Amino acid sequence: MSTAQLETAVIDRSLREADPEVARELTGELGRQRSELSMIASESYTHWAVMEAQGSVFMNKLAEGYAGLRYSAGCDHVDAVERLAVARAKSLFDAEHVNVQPHSGAQANAAVYDALLDPGDTILALDLAHGGHLTHGMRLNFSARFYHCVAYHVRPEDSLVDMEEVERLAREHRPRLIVAGWSAYPRQLDFSEFRRIADEVGAYLMIDMAHFAGLVAGGVHPNPMPYADVVTSTTHKTLGGPRGGMVLCRGEHAARIDTAVFPGQQAAPLAHTIAAKAVAFKIAAGAEFRDCQRRTVAGARIIADRLSTPDVAAAGIKVLTGGTDVHLLLLDLRESELTGRQAEDRLQEIGISVNRNTIPFDTRPPLITSGLRIGTSALATRGFTAYDFTAIAEVVASALLPGPDVLELRERVARMADKYPIYQALSADLD
Ligand SMILES: *Cc1c(COP(=O)(O)O)cnc(C)c1O
Repeated sequence: MSTAQLETAVIDRSLREADPEVARELTGELGRQRSELSMIASESYTHWAVMEAQGSVFMNKLAEGYAGLRYSAGCDHVDAVERLAVARAKSLFDAEHVNVQPHSGAQANAAVYDALLDPGDTILALDLAHGGHLTHGMRLNFSARFYHCVAYHVRPEDSLVDMEEVERLAREHRPRLIVAGWSAYPRQLDFSEFRRIADEVGAYLMIDMAHFAGLVAGGVHPNPMPYADVVTSTTHKTLGGPRGGMVLCRGEHAARIDTAVFPGQQAAPLAHTIAAKAVAFKIAAGAEFRDCQRRTVAGARIIADRLSTPDVAAAGIKVLTGGTDVHLLLLDLRESELTGRQAEDRLQEIGISVNRNTIPFDTRPPLITSGLRIGTSALATRGFTAYDFTAIAEVVASALLPGPDVLELRERVARMADKYPIYQALSADLD
């Protein structure tokens, strides 16, 4: 027998055999996710079933085009999963049309701008520093380079979106597109007011629900669909699916949106990710997911309440807007002894990952910041109940107050992580 017959063919080798270095990092990351707690508002622990679909042979399939209209052979199964994904997303969000091919949330937004606008047209969207997203007009992003982006803001007095400014800027600049949506804002937006203003100036309204799509699916946040011409989303934040994006729209915009995604912005879709999206949409329609979204919002309220008490206020830490309606809260650290960066490091030291965040009217640079964004979506997915959120709120408060007992807090976090193990099907010794 030749050596080739004795050894496993390269195509069939496990990761551990083929690439021990990457396998070691994968094991390390699994260990990190198991032993730490993610409170990064844009993260989730996705379902094992989603990962199975994502890491599957669908990855091999070239499927340019749409279900039933491909440019290559052998697409029966890809067609079937794409149809499943589309039908499930339509029913989940009550949408007339859905495109599940965008590779990411940013690609979904790019496709919508491409579909509805000409280069140089005006977009009115929330300022990045006030909670908006890069793709809503950040200076270095394609949105600001190809379009004329005008920003609205939150009010200094209560950190809520200034709808009077939105109306004033809309009348002044006559945007072709108004964007409502956020990456760091702890409240629900007034969709009907955005619709009224868009109608008044003859603009399209795009609602970017990248962050709160899971809350919508779970019935704990109003559905933007009835108000918007187009809704965009990621599938990996509160929705708990694979990393990716999607566009939902009224039937009248369907053809333009589809053409803008393919061939406008992308070539072949990620068939494996579309399969994983289909799985995530099925799970998101279930009772367990609804319960998870309820625990998510309840958990954020519990933490916001704990961080609004006099001991925390005395340390100069404020909860922006005084609370939350969603899965995240924002801390204003301008008057505390901690910068956003230091607060992030402090929590990381005890095993909780969060992210520092610019807050409105921040005086510190974006790599330091005076804010902290704390989310509950990942922990609710892991199983956290109101009882656990009360305990973690205490841990977070203790960590941010002066003179924390780091060792003791780290042990408490480790015990809570052990209480909710993840991915039992994955072997702990990949390497
Ligand atoms: C996260 C996010 C996006 C972009 O998603 P990516 O998948 O990272 O490209 C777009 N819009 C908003 C509001 C987001 O929060």
